[in-house]
Amino acid sequence: MSDLLGRTLSSRYLVQEIIARGGMSTVYKAKDQRLDRQVAVKVIHPHLAADPLFRDKFFREARMLAKVNHANLVNIYDQGDDSGNAYIVLEFVEGITLRDALRDNGALTTGQILQVSKAILSALTQAHANGIVHRDLKPENVLLSDDGRIKVTDFGLARELSADTDTGSLVGTVAYLAPEVIKRGKTQTQSDIYSYGIMLYEMLTGKQPYLGTDAIQIAMLHTTSRVSSALDKNPSASIELNELMLYCTEPNPDNRPQNAIDALTALENITKNSVSYPEQNLDETLILNDSFEDISFTEVIADIGKPEDNPFEPYSKRNVFSKWLIASLLVFLLGSLGGWWFGSGPGALVAIPNVSDKTTSEATNLLQPVTTQISIRKVFSSTFAQGQVVGTEPPAGLPVSKGSGITLLVSKGKEMISVPSLFGLDLVTATAKLVGAHLTVGSVSEWFNSDYSLGSVYGYSGDDKTKLAVGSSVDLKVSLGAIPVVTGLREGVARAALEVAGLTVRKSVYHFSNTVSKGEVIEVVPDEAQVGKGSTIKLVVSRGPNTVVMPKVKGETILAAQALLESLGLKVVIDTKWLSKDYGIKKVTGVSENVGATLKVGSSVTIRSR
Ligand code: ADP
Ligand code: MG
Repeated sequence: MSDLLGRTLSSRYLVQEIIARGGMSTVYKAKDQRLDRQVAVKVIHPHLAADPLFRDKFFREARMLAKVNHANLVNIYDQGDDSGNAYIVLEFVEGITLRDALRDNGALTTGQILQVSKAILSALTQAHANGIVHRDLKPENVLLSDDGRIKVTDFGLARELSADTDTGSLVGTVAYLAPEVIKRGKTQTQSDIYSYGIMLYEMLTGKQPYLGTDAIQIAMLHTTSRVSSALDKNPSASIELNELMLYCTEPNPDNRPQNAIDALTALENITKNSVSYPEQNLDETLILNDSFEDISFTEVIADIGKPEDNPFEPYSKRNVFSKWLIASLLVFLLGSLGGWWFGSGPGALVAIPNVSDKTTSEATNLLQPVTTQISIRKVFSSTFAQGQVVGTEPPAGLPVSKGSGITLLVSKGKEMISVPSLFGLDLVTATAKLVGAHLTVGSVSEWFNSDYSLGSVYGYSGDDKTKLAVGSSVDLKVSLGAIPVVTGLREGVARAALEVAGLTVRKSVYHFSNTVSKGEVIEVVPDEAQVGKGSTIKLVVSRGPNTVVMPKVKGETILAAQALLESLGLKVVIDTKWLSKDYGIKKVTGVSENVGATLKVGSSVTIRSR
């Protein structure tokens, strides 16, 4: 904004003049006062800086540029924020853009095209090799410096391939968008090649292949027809470059050069065979006009988002894409007819603020500057609580004309579903069934379970008919089969069998048993309610029956009788007049139990001596 002119950002960059203003930002010429050199400072529009979505997009450019470094790419020097003015500092390239050159010269000579193409493809090779797609290649973003250097700039929409493999965002400038980007929002290295192909067509003929002001029509043409030969428009154009152009604009991305390296190789083959084309000095031939005037605009046409962060995905997969595409292209069209997208007085386009997470009334207030035409639709959401705004349609960030209708998507909470029956299924089948039901597999625990065969599911979250939210994870219990039966086995054998089955066997305990013989296992006692691999258990081992036969003790000394009975597990009561020091001499004269009687271990027997 012009109010930055004359200001020094972060006590360092003196803002001197406006170079260009675009949809998201303004580029200024500035002086780095610390290093005393000219720089370009790109400042995000203040009204967008408040929107985290835009800020993130903006600083993504800095991150992308920082990852690549090449003679044909604009260097990044710094990034910062001065009281709400978020900015990035770039190498200043004094000169014009390829757009200016095309507008003033029309078609370029073969030598010029080779030179520009080589620079663009070399820059792109560097980006592609770093896993970055530019996504907004067009003549406005190719800088031709006064000293003959050629630099690709504007990584504002660039993306890391890894982050953007599936559904991505439909971004870029409609005249340069590859059909797969328009149709599926899918960007890949081949989509950059397509954009380069369109620029090549333009360099060969001086015009874009699809003309007209109707952006929808242009988008349709990219998706339904293929670019025709440049020789139709310019019969004197290079046949080889025309072929490269047709190769790069193949409708099917698989049939194009797969990336910039492929395209560069194809270009180099042409260069080798075309020594007859003199390399021309760009200083003299291209630089006829040094005014920087932006005549086309890039904008995020519709950020479709990845499936997981697109709040509309689960319930409105239907036709969101084409709906937004048309709405957005209309906006785009309005934008290009009306001049600047932002900030050119009343009636200008306004970006929809991000109101997700707000209450309905907060959101309505925030949307007031854009429109009062607000309708509400309730949607399921697994991320936003009931009553919170999930998002808007069209989505935040999209520029719309003031007063246009906006739908607030308000969460009605999570969609709850029943878990399909998984009993008896193996893990693979159960997983497939869960995924098919929009659920995921949570933890899988294996337990011994005699009712289910080894490897089959016998329990899971929701098996009691409780409904779960869509997307929840379901914990599974898988059977290890039954615990080996060890009752009646000798202790040592039982212990070995259980250890082989993966259990940890603790020290045994010994109980009397009238049915299990001494030394054999009576039962297995698990430490946990459910026994899995590694669980600890203990064995209860028989110490034989718990009865004894009353021996004859009459006539023995008191001491001997007491010792014998106690060794059998009986309690001994001594009824005597003798002092205990004489127990070793005095004899037992009477006993409470008959010889040969069956007595329970622990019961008491009285011996008398008088
Ligand atoms: P936008 O995202 O607004 O398109 P760009 O990075 O493409 O932003 O910059 C807009 C215009 O500013 C370019 O088309 C070019 O004319 C000029 N420009 C951008 N970067 C530089 C630079 N480093 N040096 C000089 N001019 C630049
Ligand atoms: Mg640009």
